[in-house]
Amino acid sequence: MAQSNTGVMHRDGQGVPQNFKEALRWFTKAAEQGHAGAQSNLGVMHQVGQGVPQNFKEALRWYTKAAEQGNADAQSNLGLLYANGEGGIKQDLTRALKLFRLAAAQGHEPAKAAMPQVEAMLKASLGVTPPAKQRPALAPDACANCGILGESVGVKLNSCSRCKAVKYCGKACQLKHWKEGGHKKICLTLTP
Ligand SMILES: [Zn+2]
Ligand SMILES: [Zn+2]
Repeated sequence: MAQSNTGVMHRDGQGVPQNFKEALRWFTKAAEQGHAGAQSNLGVMHQVGQGVPQNFKEALRWYTKAAEQGNADAQSNLGLLYANGEGGIKQDLTRALKLFRLAAAQGHEPAKAAMPQVEAMLKASLGVTPPAKQRPALAPDACANCGILGESVGVKLNSCSRCKAVKYCGKACQLKHWKEGGHKKICLTLTP
């Protein structure tokens, strides 16, 4: 518990200079001892690429541990990784929906908001409805590339400096969305 709190202090720069590497070290200690909150936070840091290179598979590994312990943030973030199916993760909409339901049952608002869209994606994938290429939009406060929620999981999102129409969790996602996610093409059209 104390190790996890120390991690939060370093991540957010509370009373100490902000230091992602130090935060990562404390979260890892607590996570390896089975602390669900630390496992969830560690997953976020791997997903965003704070103090480590961005790695969705490593994020998935830690979210899974925390989700199995009933952590709603981790269930929701894990659901999102399965819904998006990128970064080497196989898309699994049934699993994603199950995870969102678990989080929603605990009153997790962003998961509740995402469920209808994931249900629609699942129906489309089963051929019930025409395919929808859209990703689940969890909330306005979500990274345009990986979908991670901002403030609710301690991640400060920054807007695209040109169009200001999209937000990113970090440089890794911004660069990826620019090069591979097609933002390069549409950024100018979004610029006011
Ligand atoms: Zn992101
Ligand atoms: Zn832009």
